[in-house]
Amino acid sequence: MDREPTPLALALAAAAHGYAVFPLGRTKRPALPSPHRPPAAPAPDSGTGSVPPTGPGPQTAPVSATPGTPPGSPAPCRGACGLPGHGVYDASTEPSVIRALFARAPHASGYGIACGLAPHHLLGLDLDTKHGADPLRALVLLGARHGFVLPVTLRVATPSGGAHLWFSAPAGRTVRNSAGRLAPGIDVRGAGGYLVGPGSRTTRGVYRFLPGAPPGPPRPAPAPEALLRLLAPSRRPVPYALHRHPGDHERATEALLRFVRASLPGERNTRLYWAACRVGESGLASTAVAARLVAAAHATGLPTHEAARTVASAFLRTAPGSATGPVTTAPAGTTRRRGRDRAS
Ligand SMILES: [Zn+2]
Repeated sequence: MDREPTPLALALAAAAHGYAVFPLGRTKRPALPSPHRPPAAPAPDSGTGSVPPTGPGPQTAPVSATPGTPPGSPAPCRGACGLPGHGVYDASTEPSVIRALFARAPHASGYGIACGLAPHHLLGLDLDTKHGADPLRALVLLGARHGFVLPVTLRVATPSGGAHLWFSAPAGRTVRNSAGRLAPGIDVRGAGGYLVGPGSRTTRGVYRFLPGAPPGPPRPAPAPEALLRLLAPSRRPVPYALHRHPGDHERATEALLRFVRASLPGERNTRLYWAACRVGESGLASTAVAARLVAAAHATGLPTHEAARTVASAFLRTAPGSATGPVTTAPAGTTRRRGRDRAS
């Protein structure tokens, strides 16, 4: 072993700064098994990557932090039973509680930080550069469009080359988890979600604070109000929201088509799917719009049949009354891989 601080020491240090923490295993999943899991089932994090396959995408549970609770269960226990093993709902700033959690999780290699809790009301933006997305650029463009500039704040480098930006939200402002809702490659961790704490070790590497943080204790900068408005639960996907007036439909559709046409190789399918989902969610899916989306994607070099399949899949998934529901947020091509990556 090396001289890196233990996961418990790291977790206690974070808790001393007001962050509620709980143990994570090497796959970024909660390290403690659920007390509601049948005894024969494997632990939630065996370190071997034997994570059970998940549903069609993160919309079923962006950060299902209640291991052992089958998706769709009517009332998952969030710790009301008093036993540990409820993922993010175990999180605490109380050293004795944290020590007890880690004592039950000898294989923990890291710790999760619960989002949305006092005093910081942590809100994480997970910028994922995999699959060709350019989330930082997308974020800057969003800021230009909606009138905000991101403040200097805490940033954590992820082993895959992405980054987590930490912000604080005002008390009482609920920010939900979402995947790709703001833009491709940007996941949001809010209430009920968690971020992998810096110093944590995972199968893919170590999470580390990036330099450039403001001096003083590690405190997230307040999220810009305009960004919070974009993340408000009542809002549909905002950047390309399709409005009620017929003229706006066309403008919004054009914006989505431009978004598709600006795709670079490696991100074409992802961006096409994302755009088609926004159309579908707005109830504007039609053969005509599908043809325009396919043509826009084809102009970037995506084969027509592949583009058509992607659009059809997005429309199907976002159709009102579809089994998977209208709130589809994950770009195509990322859903299967993301199924294992629900924590940030
Ligand atoms: Zn319980």
